Amino acid sequence: MNEKLTFDDLAQQYDHLESRTQMENGRKVTRFISYVHTRQGNVERSQWQSMVRELIREAGEEELFQQLLEWTGERTLWLKTEKERENYALELHASRIFDKEEWVDFVPFNRKYRPARLASVGLVPVVADCCGKEFITTLAQIQNVTGKVRCPYCGRFSNYKMKGTEDKDECNKEKG
Ligand SMILES: [Zn+2]
Repeated sequence: MNEKLTFDDLAQQYDHLESRTQMENGRKVTRFISYVHTRQGNVERSQWQSMVRELIREAGEEELFQQLLEWTGERTLWLKTEKERENYALELHASRIFDKEEWVDFVPFNRKYRPARLASVGLVPVVADCCGKEFITTLAQIQNVTGKVRCPYCGRFSNYKMKGTEDKDECNKEKG
C-alpha cells in the first residue's frame, strides 16, 4: 500500500474478527485478531489505527481529532478504556462523520467546534413530540426514511413538527 491513501480508503466498512489457534506450551490456544474491513481490504486493527493517525497528521486535522475524541468520550460510556475511545474516534474520523449532515450530532458538534461549517448547511428548527422543545437539525436528518428525528434533550428518536422559519433569522434584532 504505497500509493497515497485517503480517508475514504480507510473508512471502516465493518469489523472482521479472525481466530487463530496454535500450540503454546503444549496447549491449544485460540486468539482473536481484530481487523478493520476497508475498501483496501482487511487491515489489522493496530496497523489501521497508525494509518489513520498518519492521515490525520498529514491533513493537519489533529485538533479536529482531539475535538472528536473529547466529544465522543463524553458520550460513549459503554467504552471502558482510553484505547477503546480512541479507536472509536478514529473510526468516526476516518468516516468524516463531522461532515455528514445526517449524523445526529452534526449540529451540536459543529456548533461547538466548527461553527463555520454550519453556515453552508440547510438547517431547520423543529419541535420533537417527546419533549416539546425546539431545536435545530439538518435537512438531511429530517429527510431520513424513518420520519423521526433525534431529540437532543432526551436522545430519543421522535416524531416532530417543523417550526416556521420566518422569524428564526439569527440576524434579527433582539426584541424588548
Ligand atoms: Zn425528547
